[in-house]
Amino acid sequence: IKSKLPDVGTTIFTIMSQLASEYKAINLGQGFPDFNPDEKLVSLVNKSMMNGHNQYPYMPGVQDLRFAIADKINKLYSYNYDPETEITVTNGATEALLSSILSIVHTGDEVIVIEPCYDSYLPCIKLAGGTPVLVSLTPPSKNNPAYSIDWNKVKNAITDKTRLIILNFPHNPTGLTLKSSDLDAIEDLIKEKEIFLIGDEVYEHIVFGHKPFLSLSTREFLASRSFVISSFGKTYHTTGWKVGYCSAPKALTAEFRKIHQFVVFTVSSPMQYAFAEFMKDPAPYLNLSRFYQEKHDFLYNGLLKTRFKPIKSEGTFFLLADYSEVSVANELDFAKELTKKHGVTLIPVSAFYKDSSALASNNNLVRFCFAKKNETLEKALAVLSTI
Ligand code: PMP
Ligand code: GLN
Repeated sequence: IKSKLPDVGTTIFTIMSQLASEYKAINLGQGFPDFNPDEKLVSLVNKSMMNGHNQYPYMPGVQDLRFAIADKINKLYSYNYDPETEITVTNGATEALLSSILSIVHTGDEVIVIEPCYDSYLPCIKLAGGTPVLVSLTPPSKNNPAYSIDWNKVKNAITDKTRLIILNFPHNPTGLTLKSSDLDAIEDLIKEKEIFLIGDEVYEHIVFGHKPFLSLSTREFLASRSFVISSFGKTYHTTGWKVGYCSAPKALTAEFRKIHQFVVFTVSSPMQYAFAEFMKDPAPYLNLSRFYQEKHDFLYNGLLKTRFKPIKSEGTFFLLADYSEVSVANELDFAKELTKKHGVTLIPVSAFYKDSSALASNNNLVRFCFAKKNETLEKALAVLSTI
């Protein structure tokens, strides 16, 4: 069969999770919590089912939930989305990414993607007939131990064909976040041009160092050009429920919904009613950064006592570590070997590059997910300190 995605195989997350279960390894690879969501949220799902919310909900999402989302965005980022015409509940951020890319990218359009990048962007761009244009983050060096972004490189990548820039902050896998000066730079890049943005903000509530999260929707102008995407999976420890949302100005949302209605039509009804009720209390998302900061610091400090060299993360539930003192293998081989021989599963960072086998993609870095019980992190650290 003539493949539409000839270069695409099974995702690294699936491969590594399968290997982890085959070898009964401690899985710090794929990004999901190994603990349960709040019991109240679970019982609200049950209550929704008992109350008869078991059939197709309204295509753009349950009204109460869209209003609750608009209210949250307004309180946190001071931007007013109209929940009737500008917010759509989606099947996780994954569907929101596909539907937004399909709704804005035409054949031949160029889409700028910051590399390393989350694995779904490039296939979605190709399915839309677009051409990805990759701009690399500046990797860590002796003088600067963190990744950084050079907006001049992004500026130089813009051509007459550029239609969209995909931004993912806090960034998977590096944990990089944006400063106010970054938002200024993004405004400058697009203000004279007809370029749109996707803000993949699924980790919006996991930002470290007591810093506020700077959503694209904190700026009127950026919001007017953006699809801003989030995920309840990350915020409420429910990655398996697959509920997220996309906020975008009316004209963009109208196009988005044309696609959304034929990709999934609508999203699981009991979950939507449960989230609508549960979101009334802001404490769970307001406390999430602190919750994950502790896990980040625990893992980071634990890794300092091993031969892995961890890099501090500014957000997300991931951190990267250099393993060059432990092995000379490339990242994929190392991650597989670590699972098979030592029973700890991590993600090779090379998987976040377009050409994951290229030398430039192998920086001897692996990604750790710390959305895990402390005892899971302790067990993994105990193993890693022996190698
Ligand atoms: N974007 C990023 C950056 C992610 O890390 C993930 C998943 N972990 C997604 C999108 C997909 O989110 P969801 O599980 O809600 O589909
Ligand atoms: N986003 C998750 C991660 O980065 C994985 C989601 C998936 O498996 N598709 O680990």
